[in-house]
Amino acid sequence: MTNTPNTLVIRNGTVIDGSGAPARRNDAIVVEGNRIKHVGALPPDIALDDRRNVAVIDAAGQWIMPGLIDAHCHVSYGYPVIKGEGKGRGTTRPEFSTLKAARSVQKVLRSGVTGISVPGGTWFTDVGVRDAIKLGLMEGPRMYVAGRMIVTYGCIEDDEPSWEGTPDHSIGKLCNTGDEMVTEVRRQGKHGVNFIKMADSRSGESQMLAKEEIAAVVAEAHRRNLRVGIHSRGAGSTRAAAEAGVDWIIHADLATDRDLEAVAKAGMPIIPTATFLAMVVELGQKVGAEQVQLDINRMKRHFEALCVLMHKARKLGIKLLVGTDTGNNTFMRYGEVHAKELEIFVKYGDYSPLEAISAATRDNAYAIGLQGQVGELAPGKLADLIVLDRDPLADITVLQGGKHLTHVIKDGKIVDLAPREEMLTFREAAE
Ligand SMILES: [Zn+2]
Repeated sequence: MTNTPNTLVIRNGTVIDGSGAPARRNDAIVVEGNRIKHVGALPPDIALDDRRNVAVIDAAGQWIMPGLIDAHCHVSYGYPVIKGEGKGRGTTRPEFSTLKAARSVQKVLRSGVTGISVPGGTWFTDVGVRDAIKLGLMEGPRMYVAGRMIVTYGCIEDDEPSWEGTPDHSIGKLCNTGDEMVTEVRRQGKHGVNFIKMADSRSGESQMLAKEEIAAVVAEAHRRNLRVGIHSRGAGSTRAAAEAGVDWIIHADLATDRDLEAVAKAGMPIIPTATFLAMVVELGQKVGAEQVQLDINRMKRHFEALCVLMHKARKLGIKLLVGTDTGNNTFMRYGEVHAKELEIFVKYGDYSPLEAISAATRDNAYAIGLQGQVGELAPGKLADLIVLDRDPLADITVLQGGKHLTHVIKDGKIVDLAPREEMLTFREAAE
């Protein structure tokens, strides 16, 4: 049996610790098991030449920071067309979706993303993949997952006609009364979700969920130690969600100043998720609107609203978390755009690169249920780190696509990056 060293020492390099403190030259980061034990000068009791027990990474000339967290990443959407099969969704199967999700999270981890919050998927695929990673069946990021989104008639993800409802392969779960919603919270809790995802209208034109219904879900979820996140672009739904006490709000682009004041007063963060909109606009201009199959002008309006929101929210003291919606469409490829949101925060949200990194690491830990435990390089924290050959403070885009990674360490273990090239170039050609 081969011996895996229990101690990892990362020598040299420049540390960006995630706390917002300026980058600094460092001598040694010591990881014992899955936690960071020490950051600073090399402790005298560490025997660097004891290679049976101590692994050493020399990061001279490189940058060391906490692993990135994507606060909005889906892993169980999408189903390729298989030759010879009908195009109807009747051919989708949970077994295939699970295998696809299991492969996708490998790409996520190898791009330097060591944690993801998964606000909705099909069946209980995401719960299964999370547990397989936790049990050591396979590698992957830390996953914090919801089940299918709770929706009413006309909400986003209520896509089938009413006589079909929302079948199991749908990512929405139709619940048209508060009682049905509470029952669904209990069902999803029983099957192991970490949080409940609610979803209002697609674009926010009208409010689809009543405040009382959101409050009923929050009460039931919190009693069962589950949290609640909501897709809310509209003004009414954002205010209702804030007053009902959800744990985070996704988007909020049409919220008025007074709605945002309600959010600030209630104290929950917002996950704007501008990356998806930026990708639609960029790709639409490149390949034409028909191919992206989304309304580019509408996406542009949402994007511009989110840029305004970022400024307003910061002024009001609302914390913004960093999420991308990777996996919600085939062009939102795993491992490629998880760090694009940081670039948007810097370009359009007035964040410094250092602030964007803290948001995507220390602050984002909240979205994976590990606030204060991960996302910072400090003694006692969980050891999720990445090492880069370029300075992300000089150019925030070097974090994208894993191109400048030399090492990924998750839960104290060095991730083998060798399959990365093949994985990142893998195209789901059949999709
Ligand atoms: Zn999403």
